[in-house]
Amino acid sequence: MTVDLRSDTVTRPTAAMRSAMAAAEVGDDVFGDDPTVNALQDRCADLLGTEAGLYLPSGTQSNLVALLTHCGRGDEYVVGFDAHTYSHEGGGAAALGAIQPQPIAVEPDGTLDPDVIDSVVKPRDAHFARTRLVCLEDTKSGVALPVGYHRVVADRARSRGLALHLDGARIWNSAVANAVDESTIAGPYDTVSVCLSKGLGAPVGSVLCGSKAFLDEAHRWRKVVGGGMRQAGIIAAAGLYALDHHRARLADDHANAQRLADGLAGIEPFTTSVHTNMVMLDLGGVAFEALSPVLSERGVVTYGSGPVLRLVTHLDIDESAIDLAVDAFAEAVRGSQPRR
Ligand SMILES: *Cc1c(COP(=O)(O)O)cnc(C)c1O
Repeated sequence: MTVDLRSDTVTRPTAAMRSAMAAAEVGDDVFGDDPTVNALQDRCADLLGTEAGLYLPSGTQSNLVALLTHCGRGDEYVVGFDAHTYSHEGGGAAALGAIQPQPIAVEPDGTLDPDVIDSVVKPRDAHFARTRLVCLEDTKSGVALPVGYHRVVADRARSRGLALHLDGARIWNSAVANAVDESTIAGPYDTVSVCLSKGLGAPVGSVLCGSKAFLDEAHRWRKVVGGGMRQAGIIAAAGLYALDHHRARLADDHANAQRLADGLAGIEPFTTSVHTNMVMLDLGGVAFEALSPVLSERGVVTYGSGPVLRLVTHLDIDESAIDLAVDAFAEAVRGSQPRR
């Protein structure tokens, strides 16, 4: 058995999901007549409470298309220092859109401080880039943003004439953790990008949600960046299946993450913190290289090399997998320390 804790992206489509894909009705989505893609877009828009949705191959492309639509050449967006759109998407907004990021600190609760946002908005003057947009992320490194925050930051952004985008790759986890509908989180934003290929377990796909007018323009940018797909209903069917069957069960992933964090915290000298489906494991000075032979022998796969490891639970990790992982870490630590 392999216990792959690298990310919630490593899941394999279930047999039932594959059946749904095989049975999907399809058309040509570039002509807009793939019924399964259209159903997925409508379903996401429904869940998030927006007018419409646009299916894209990845979360990276979804965020990029949102940025290209919100901002023009020489415009600027305010974003967290280690936000995915800024730090993990190849600088796409700058490379392809000539859009300048204005990064600011991310607070421990995953939010951007509205006062700091205020302080970096540029005056309308020929010297400065035009600040157009604020970009949030929920969950942020697993942390579910406080539900009340979204309205506060939206009011502040609007008072400065800025639009608001949410990178909601894991909005599903945030909704479960906060026990609210996704639409409660999405409500204050102009646009929200969601991933189907993380905790929801679809093999591929994201949906950008917003107003019809915005998405008409975004549709053009999707074509420009090569995201127009044909019989995409085959993969959209997996997304629809995931929305119907894998959203509520994210609570299991959160419980499993807690179980993992508790188990690992019982091992000297580890300390852990846990948010939704992510465990941050501080190795307490133990070198990862000393642990990795036993971990690989036991089939426990992790990403990175410390001193803090991010471990992520998902659809293919059950309680017995958690217990195996904790056991493997315990054995690895025992083996790493010189016997007295
Ligand atoms: C994974 C992720 C993305 C991008 O999704 P891909 O489908 O991998 O391109 C964007 N934002 C966040 C927060 C993510 O975790």
